[in-house]
Amino acid sequence: MNFSELNLNKSLINALGDIGLEKPTSIQQKVFGPVMSGKDIVGIAQTGTGKTYAYLLPLLRLWKFSKSPHPKILIIVPTRELVTQLVEEVEKLTKYLTFSVVGVYGGANIKVQKTKISLGADLVVGTPGRLVDLMLAGVLKTKYLKKLVIDEVDEMFNLGFRKQLKTIVEFLPERRQNLMFSATMPEDVESIIDEFTDRYQKIEAAPSGAPLENIEQYVYSIPNFNTGANLLELLLKSVEEMQKVLVFASSKKLADVLYDRMAALFEDQVGIIHSSKSQNNRFDTVNKFQEGHFR
Ligand code: AMP
Repeated sequence: MNFSELNLNKSLINALGDIGLEKPTSIQQKVFGPVMSGKDIVGIAQTGTGKTYAYLLPLLRLWKFSKSPHPKILIIVPTRELVTQLVEEVEKLTKYLTFSVVGVYGGANIKVQKTKISLGADLVVGTPGRLVDLMLAGVLKTKYLKKLVIDEVDEMFNLGFRKQLKTIVEFLPERRQNLMFSATMPEDVESIIDEFTDRYQKIEAAPSGAPLENIEQYVYSIPNFNTGANLLELLLKSVEEMQKVLVFASSKKLADVLYDRMAALFEDQVGIIHSSKSQNNRFDTVNKFQEGHFR
């Protein structure tokens, strides 16, 4: 199947052409019709399945130009980096539309964000805490909101955003379409979803929690942190394909310790990111990783 077989319009087809995408992924094919028909959906899909375009494409296809400055679409994501990434994706897809998107997140000047929203936005993307602040301040008006997306609901839960989400739901108009995405759907996640919708269609990219087919996974059993750090050093020195490596640590403190060790061994090739780092620092690190300066 090609994108031309989905009921897209010229602006979106041309934008996809510029991005270089030809065929919709499985979740993109499955989600398109139900969203177009106005249903609430819960997509079980992890990063890498193409879930972002799975909701952006039908939402932008359904979108109609209006003079109202208030947002019609709200997308909630768990991290600041995801906000900026999503704003970029939306800008690419709406290159041939008259459409404005604003991203908001904590740790950045709220006044600047307030001004941007006041100037008008068709779509607002944000992290939960900052969205609550902007709604409470009366700057982010939700009366005209028609579509709500919550991406990575399981991460929202893990990061403790439940309370903020509960506050947000109280601000939303009752009549709206809800689209929610999560890689897994344990009971806690389901109960968050139930706060937003009573009836939804569940759509799976792959069985819940299934690993992506194009990713090979290996497990090393290690007794402690120190051995893990030694193993990481060995892998980085001996495995040639490991040129773009993401290492997750269980706490900020361990991330700092691991960073110090690796940065001493691989000078100027290692970056670190966690919530105690300044926002500029976080963005800078992500950029350097994306551009290949950091290994
Ligand atoms: P996501 O799962 O939304 O985080 O997307 C993962 C990556 O897949 C992103 O870099 C997208 O640009 C890319 N992607 C999304 N849709 C497609 C598609 N239909 N064909 C090829 N790549 C895609």
